[in-house]
Amino acid sequence: MGDEASRAELLSLAQEVGEALSYLRELGVDSLESASTIELAAATQGSDGRGARAADAPTPHDAQRFAALKRNAEAEARMPRTPPAETRPAETQRPATPTPTAHIEETPAPDVLYQSAQTTSTERAEMPKRKPVRTPDPVPPPPQDTLFGEIKPKDELSLPREGETFADIHNDIGECLRCPLYQSRTKIVHSEGNAKARLMFVGEAPGADEDASGRPFVGRAGQLLNKIIEAIGMKREDIFIGNVNRCRPPQNRTPTHEEAATCKPFLLREIAILRPEVIVVLGNTAMKNLLDTKEGITKLRGTFMDYKGIKVMPTFHPAYLLRDPSKKRETWEDMKKVREYLNKTKAAK
Ligand code: URA
Repeated sequence: MGDEASRAELLSLAQEVGEALSYLRELGVDSLESASTIELAAATQGSDGRGARAADAPTPHDAQRFAALKRNAEAEARMPRTPPAETRPAETQRPATPTPTAHIEETPAPDVLYQSAQTTSTERAEMPKRKPVRTPDPVPPPPQDTLFGEIKPKDELSLPREGETFADIHNDIGECLRCPLYQSRTKIVHSEGNAKARLMFVGEAPGADEDASGRPFVGRAGQLLNKIIEAIGMKREDIFIGNVNRCRPPQNRTPTHEEAATCKPFLLREIAILRPEVIVVLGNTAMKNLLDTKEGITKLRGTFMDYKGIKVMPTFHPAYLLRDPSKKRETWEDMKKVREYLNKTKAAK
């Protein structure tokens, strides 16, 4: 290659490296700066023919490498930033709002159990590599009216989107850091069940077994709940089940008002997708969070509340029944009402 040709090639390489470098800087890739600066300096020196040894000058291979780095940085920039919890500043950037086209296709067949905790590795591989780590927005969006009254979303990703799926909601929850319960959880316990269920159960929050397995109502209370479901002629696979809070509170304490309010929007979004005919609220926390009642479960259990077209039956929590088995009779009475209502509406269809 003649002097002129190699000079032109060096100039073009130097320009390309310079562009790649400023692009990387714009994207916040600072750690490359020193190495790249040296290479750029070498290229620039070479371009005016002074002081550059052939070995220092950038080669076509360098250009390829920078192009690859640029591609990676572009891909990285498209992903939401996920700073590690311990280095997070007090107030962080607003999380990127997903575009409406970013919805994930629902994989399960309509009446197949929807169990996020049971996704196969193939299903997981098909999920977009988006692991949102959410922190409270400095300015949360305004409250919204929902099926169950006003909610005060913690951030944009707490809000429902048109045509959303259960998978979208799980994705919006991400590796949630919205309330202090994330600190002691093992797994986030999402709602699960039949995506066409006519009957939904809502509990309070995961216990130790649920926290370990990532599935709702799998411990002793869950086993009793399975028996209650079977007692009205249904199977666990027929129903949908979730909790007000998805992370286990320390020592199984009742979630605080703030913790419940933070997590509840996701449950309400699931209810809006499912639109069950009946929701059984298990215990005080579930009842008060869905119905905003002043009175407690002992007073209100056994009477249907009609809420925007969905019948809500408050009854005792199975964990309470384990502590006081004499209350099982009342729960049985409540569940017979649920069975009767479901049979009646089925017959009317
Ligand atoms: N208690 C609840 O309220 N929810 C569960 O998932 C388990 C126990």
